Amino acid sequence: MSAKILDGKKISAEIRSSIKEEVEKLKAHGINPTLAVVLVGENPASKVYVGQKEKGCEEAGIISRKYTLPVDTTLEELLTLVKKLNEDKEVHGILVQFPLPAHLKESAVLSAMNPEKDVDGFHALNVGRLFSGLPCFESCTPKGVITLIERTGIHIEGKNAVIIGRSNIVGKPVAAMLLARNATVTITHSKTRNLPEVVKQADIVIAAIGKPRFVTADMIKEGAIVIDVGINRLPEGLVGDVDYEMVAQKASWITPVPGGVGPMTIAMLLQNTLKAATGKLGA
Ligand code: NAD
Repeated sequence: MSAKILDGKKISAEIRSSIKEEVEKLKAHGINPTLAVVLVGENPASKVYVGQKEKGCEEAGIISRKYTLPVDTTLEELLTLVKKLNEDKEVHGILVQFPLPAHLKESAVLSAMNPEKDVDGFHALNVGRLFSGLPCFESCTPKGVITLIERTGIHIEGKNAVIIGRSNIVGKPVAAMLLARNATVTITHSKTRNLPEVVKQADIVIAAIGKPRFVTADMIKEGAIVIDVGINRLPEGLVGDVDYEMVAQKASWITPVPGGVGPMTIAMLLQNTLKAATGKLGA
């Protein structure tokens, strides 16, 4: 078998274009969807991500307000800004780019944020609502993963899904979203025994580990859907957590890196900002 490619770039462009139409409709009703993006310090990867998010907003007609703070910003100063943005009626979504410099507690920043403006879906209230099956902001990368799986047209219900990696930003929320769609979900991690055998049972594999080409063809069941969340910077360029060339010969669908999950994250952020602007969180 040779896998079909789940083209995140193309799917993201389609979603972003429909968001743009929705934004135009809102603007006609006097609502200008606005995202506040806060960047603290000089982390080069964070600067790139923030730049991509600003560009995505601009293309969709969403106003992005960027707040760049120096690396020695105190927690108090950052919380003051977050509280100001919470109260600003013109701001619908707030995104504080992580990781923060080591002296700033990310959990304190998330707790200070109005959950109804938490378009990244990292506030404990949104995470709890996700796991309770209640309306919430779903975090962007996991939501992008689910959107890609749904685009295959294959029904998730009843499928065996194996997630490799249990982080709060990918593995755990993806698990909750798959459970909500009636998959049988297994989360594996660095302490899992017989990982290849577990992965081999999967109809759907999600790799979110951060180890280049960790998932090899011998771990994959013929016809599985393989979603590669990993981004690893090697001298030869970006590679995922999946041995793409070999796994593509066994899978039914596969995401490339780059051009798979990555572009979906921004589309989902724009979707969440739109949702915040229309106040549909509790709907
Ligand atoms: P993380 O470092 O927080 O977590 C990695 C997980 O992998 C851990 O749960 C760990 O238990 C597991 N793991 C490590 N070694 C393992 C092993 N040998 N066997 C099984 N499991 C193992 O990582 P993260 O933040 O979830 O990110 C994972 C990858 O996804 C990274 O490459 C990151 O860059 C990428 N990522 C991409 C996007 C995007 O596309 N937009 C977003 C977030 C993360």
